[in-house]
Amino acid sequence: MEKYSLLKLFKHAHKYHENWQRAWRNPTPKKVYDVVIVGGGGHGLATAYYLAKVHGITNVAVVEKGYLGGGNTARNTTIIRSNYLWDEASQLYEFALKLWEDLSQDLNFNVMFSQRGVLNLGHTLQDMRDIERRVNANRLNGIDGHVLSTAEVQDIVPLMNCSPDSRYPVLGASWQPRGGTARHDAVAWGYARGADALGVDLIQETEVTGIRRSNGEVVGVETTKGFIGARKVACVTAGNSGVMAAMAGLRLPIESRPLQALVSEPVKPCLDTVVMSNAVHGYISQSDKGDLVIGAGVDAYNGYGQRGSFHVIEHTVQAICELFPAFSRVRMNRQWGGIVDTCPDACPIVSKTSVKGLYFNCGWGTGGFKATPGSGYVFADTVANDRPHPMAEAFNIDRFSSGALIDEHGAAGVAH
Ligand SMILES: Cc1cc2nc3c(=O)[nH]c(=O)nc-3n(C[C@H](O)[C@H](O)[C@H](O)COP(=O)(O)OP(=O)(O)OC[C@H]3O[C@@H](n4cnc5c(N)ncnc54)[C@H](O)[C@@H]3O)c2cc1C
Repeated sequence: MEKYSLLKLFKHAHKYHENWQRAWRNPTPKKVYDVVIVGGGGHGLATAYYLAKVHGITNVAVVEKGYLGGGNTARNTTIIRSNYLWDEASQLYEFALKLWEDLSQDLNFNVMFSQRGVLNLGHTLQDMRDIERRVNANRLNGIDGHVLSTAEVQDIVPLMNCSPDSRYPVLGASWQPRGGTARHDAVAWGYARGADALGVDLIQETEVTGIRRSNGEVVGVETTKGFIGARKVACVTAGNSGVMAAMAGLRLPIESRPLQALVSEPVKPCLDTVVMSNAVHGYISQSDKGDLVIGAGVDAYNGYGQRGSFHVIEHTVQAICELFPAFSRVRMNRQWGGIVDTCPDACPIVSKTSVKGLYFNCGWGTGGFKATPGSGYVFADTVANDRPHPMAEAFNIDRFSSGALIDEHGAAGVAH
């Protein structure tokens, strides 16, 4: 009987798992586009999707040096929340969170958005004061936020060591119930499928090596597959933005640094929320397939290698074991790194530049995955109308000369 079913299963697999349609086309680049987006990560693909969907601009190419979503989009720990301190930042992240809430329906693709809540732990009196200030600011901005006591935290995460005898006792936390996680590559694929269906050309394995200008105006990009003409060029190349800017003779106030993550072997469901701690310096959630997904801070040096230093892994794992002694017996499966762009104020740049027709969306640092839909939406609007979207105004590159910085180091917290 069992043999018969296995045979049936085998036949079924062969019968139905062939001739799959491509999820998107593999087009040859046209000579000229209205907009060329450099970088096929979540932000670039979302920008293309909203350019086509909201603004009707479909003569668009996304040029990606590797494969779609293979940069930080594929490498991040997928934490989504909007509980930033300052009005400008929290407004943008909250806008993104609202888009997340309907994204699977909008894209007709399950991005596995899971609102399992995010806890930011406080371990000192000053931590708790900062948490109270941030939660109060969030509530004034209509963002869900609660200050929890130790007992309430323990109730949500029974496995966590909340003992007063621990080295960094948990005194409480901020809690954003609408925060959570999403499936990173599904987000890239959903936007890619949506953009392709609206006519956008997705051009993979093609590196942009130069930005061609004439009379101070962008005219196209040099690529490893030849020149592609463009009326506008929008750079969304997290980790490589400084390199891109240099191609146009610009300098960005950005540093590129490795950020690592690691996952354990899959274990039974034991953690149904996201836990972040700035003091012990680590964050953790459990993926739907059971892995513990763990991250911490950037490496201290600048670089472009997509890997990180060993001592950071050690420090991260120590932090997690401090909070969850039971996890000391779990084996780690994989570790990797991505390159993040960090700005001096831990906030992004979404901006026009001094070169006509050239735009940058970068500097999301260690926390841009959560912003993907909002970032794509406001950047598409900025590019389409050649002026900052109202929500992008504060993230103009000029703030580094005017001094109007939006310092989110406190809320970006753990990783910067
Ligand atoms: C380990 C780690 C953990 C993180 N955890 C979180 C988290 O929990 N929550 C959160 O919100 N954020 C997190 N982040 C940050 C987040 O991943 C990024 O901010 C976000 O994914 C950036 O998206 P993107 O589309 O701009 O970048 P990417 O996905 O990196 O896309 C940029 C693309 O540009 C391409 N590119 C670069 N140069 C060129 C060129 N010359 N020509 C053509 N293509 C080019 C790259 O190949 C890449 O695919 C984390 C990042 C890392 C590395």
